[in-house]
Amino acid sequence: MTRLTRTLRLCGQAEYRDQAEPHLHQPGDAALIFRGQARSLLIQCPDGCGQTLVINLDPRAGKAWRLDMRGGTPTLYPSVWRDGGCGSHFIVWRGRILWCDRYEAGNVEPDYDAGLEARVLKALTPRIFRSAEEIAWELDEIPWEVSRVARRLVRQALAEEGRGPKINWFRDARGLSSKPDLSKAR
Ligand SMILES: [Zn+2]
Repeated sequence: MTRLTRTLRLCGQAEYRDQAEPHLHQPGDAALIFRGQARSLLIQCPDGCGQTLVINLDPRAGKAWRLDMRGGTPTLYPSVWRDGGCGSHFIVWRGRILWCDRYEAGNVEPDYDAGLEARVLKALTPRIFRSAEEIAWELDEIPWEVSRVARRLVRQALAEEGRGPKINWFRDARGLSSKPDLSKAR
């Protein structure tokens, strides 16, 4: 029986890993390692396996995640995926843990900001697909939120999502109507 959690709590900050580790007490606890800049985030694995995950936040040290603290809660991008060990795969989004694959059924996404819809639609272009990630950086928004908003626009037939390698890439679909142009029919 694992102690699965759906919340990530930032519990402390320290300069080095051995000082940060004591801040972790239960699954989903996290501590920031900060020396002049954010270096990494320690997370006690939220699936309850007892392991400490080290998420690199420093692009100079290799593949790095982005930690966003807007609203006072942590968001990580991209998702965290342990290749070995317990195989945990999850998204951290405004302090919520959204599980990928396993446990997905109980996911609850954070609240939706309706104002973002118009801004994302404006950022889309009619022909070229743009990635949700690129749009997010341009708008200074969280990529998870841009993807969610863009998919909502797709459901309203205002946007189109790419396929294959262009999944999570979007374009403006408002000029792509397949209906015949009735204005010219006599
Ligand atoms: Zn684990």
